Amino acid sequence: MDDHAARLTVDLAALQANWLTLDRLSGAAETGAVVKADGYGLGIETAVPALAKAGCRTFFVAHLSEAIRARAVAPDVAVYVLNGFADGRMADYLAHRLRPVLGSAREIAAWRSRPAGAEPAALHVDTAMNRLGLRLEEALALAGTTPLADLGIGLTMTHFASAEEPEAADTLAQIARFGALQAVIQATDSPNRAIGASLCNSSGHFIPGVPFFQLTRPGYALYGGNPTPGMRNPMKPVIRLEAPVVQLLHVPAGEAVGYNARWVARRDSRIATVSCGYADGFPRNAGNGPDHPGGSAIVAGRECGFAGNVSMDLITIDVTDVPERDLRPGDFVTLIGDALDIDRVGRSGRTIGYEILTNLGKRYRRVALGG
Ligand SMILES: *Cc1c(COP(=O)(O)O)cnc(C)c1O
Repeated sequence: MDDHAARLTVDLAALQANWLTLDRLSGAAETGAVVKADGYGLGIETAVPALAKAGCRTFFVAHLSEAIRARAVAPDVAVYVLNGFADGRMADYLAHRLRPVLGSAREIAAWRSRPAGAEPAALHVDTAMNRLGLRLEEALALAGTTPLADLGIGLTMTHFASAEEPEAADTLAQIARFGALQAVIQATDSPNRAIGASLCNSSGHFIPGVPFFQLTRPGYALYGGNPTPGMRNPMKPVIRLEAPVVQLLHVPAGEAVGYNARWVARRDSRIATVSCGYADGFPRNAGNGPDHPGGSAIVAGRECGFAGNVSMDLITIDVTDVPERDLRPGDFVTLIGDALDIDRVGRSGRTIGYEILTNLGKRYRRVALGG
């Protein structure tokens, strides 16, 4: 331990293997990669080159600023901006060869002023969520009267509301609605200007019989999240978070540990205080208290529960069951990794693994493996 920083190891070979797994599943369709939210916390500059090297040709980000960063490290790929066509920023889309994902009549109208040679945009169609995109009826009306290619659109996409529940009626209804739109587009746009379609996020890849169309958009599964909750995770873990022990102390039975005395030693205990906290994006809700078992760490090969609240910069862990000789100040404990996968850490922090990833802290010493 030199500067107290926890160590975040990003296994780029696992990231690449996960992309290849999804690419095999999607068959003849192209497999893209969603790298919004700074590559789900891994860093755009870390994730994008590794995925491009694995063979990914199409990337999705949320913000224009993220797209510009992705372009800077991947000159030859397609980059879509999911959150739409930012007002007055045409010059940026053109200069960086970016593709807006148009989601409203207003954005479609604005994209009409594009110069010749602009990259093709995508059209987002909302088939369930009432969040982003044209309503299905609007999209059907548009596609029934105007060839989308004339509007500078080369791809249509929709997003599943609950793809991780493959049998959900909503999921099947979304597939049917999106299919109906494709039939209308095919009738209006001449076949030699075929418009691509994209439906599946990570979990979508695992829906039995799902149509993949021309392009998929996985995010979470690339980074090791389980796209099939409740079943064995088919993806490889990508991140590992280890924090150094800064202090080891004895706490007599009956004494409390941490803010608000939420954990009280039931026996004479040994507590390890490690250098990582909610300021690093580790969920404060992973604290252990009377109403919630909270999180745990792997300490010298043994799983040990947290003791009390997660602090801003520190977590206290009950290491009473770890032999004293096996743990010294400066040793690292595992907060994410092995049995503590991101889905489980999400649950123990009363959130989801996605949020564990996107909150990964700025103070971590980041180490990339492979790639
Ligand atoms: C975030 C996002 C994805 C990726 O979803 P995952 O569940 O992370 O695979 C795909 N499409 C859209 C529109 C998104 O916003």
